[in-house]
This record gives sequence, structure tokens and C-alpha cells, in this order.
Amino acid sequence: MRRVVCPGSFDPVTNGHLDIIGRASRLYDEVVVMVSINLAKKSLFTVEERLDLIREVTRDLGNVKVDSFRGLTVDYCKQHDIPVIVRGLRAVTDYDYELQIAQMNHRMSGVETLFMATNPLYAFLSSSLMKEVVQWGGDVTGLVPALVHDRLIERLKDA
Ligand code: ADP
Repeated sequence: MRRVVCPGSFDPVTNGHLDIIGRASRLYDEVVVMVSINLAKKSLFTVEERLDLIREVTRDLGNVKVDSFRGLTVDYCKQHDIPVIVRGLRAVTDYDYELQIAQMNHRMSGVETLFMATNPLYAFLSSSLMKEVVQWGGDVTGLVPALVHDRLIERLKDA
């Protein structure tokens, strides 16, 4: 079975993430969306909440699993015998950082990283931008799944 890991913070999952997950799900037998646990990074949603949201919005894809992990992505890959990581590339600004991580990961473990060019419809999207816009009453309809939209409004209304 050919499997790929799609790692990230997903705080929360956006249509940009979903686009990458959906495209990867057509290329691989199974996509594991891995929420990385980073205790140093302040998040809006708990890891469990993020996992639940991803689970809900990927239900129709059928071959997507969700999981969380605290540690190096390559260690997760080794433990689960997954040889490939997929990452979305939005713009040149993502490139330097992503290249560095991919090269380090390859050096540490031999795990390959595949970069998928973002759908231009979502190239400007990030979870942090979504949070900022919703916090100030802006409309992000069509940029995040409806369920995520509701949760963002609920969570940020008193912030
Ligand atoms: P991280 O904190 O690791 O950057 P994110 O949750 O922001 O995690 O992103 C996870 C993955 O999704 C990364 O590969 C990132 O490049 C990709 N991604 C983020 N936003 C978008 C988007 N708008 N379109 C496509 N890919 C995206």
C-alpha cells in the first residue's frame, strides 16, 4: 500500500490544506494527515479539536486518516513505515524554509518530500490569516470549510 504523510499545524484546516490533501488522496492509497504537536506554539484549537475538524471535512475522501504526533515528522514516518511527505508550496516565500526542512529530513532518514503547487485560488491562504480576518469580522466564506467557518466564529467572537 502506498502511503503519504501530510504534516502541519492545521490550526484550523483551510481549503488550501484540503486541496492538497484531496489531490494527494488521488495519487496515494492512503493519506495520513498528521497534526504536529508543538507545545511552544500558541494555538486557537486543541489538537483533538483540529483532528476532529480534519476528520469531518475529509470524510468523503475515504482514504484519509488523521493522527497527531509530538516529535520529528521523519520519526513518525519511520514508526509507521511511510516513505513520503507531501507539502504544499504557496509562493517563493514558502520555498526556502520548505527546501531546508526537506533536505534535513532526507539527510536524517531518507524520507522523500514531494511539493505540490498550491491551487492559485488558495495561494494567499494561511490558517493565521483566516483567524485574523474572522477575529475582526471579515468574511472567509469559501476559503475554509463551512464547519470550520462556524467554529472560527464561535471561538473568536469573544476574543
Ligand atoms: P506548518 O505549521 O507546518 O506550516 P500548516 O498547517 O500551516 O503547517 O501547513 C501544513 C501544510 O499545508 C504545509 O505543507 C503548507 O505549505 C500547506 N499549506 C498551508 N496553507 C496552504 C494553502 N493555502 N494552499 C496549499 N497548501 C497550504
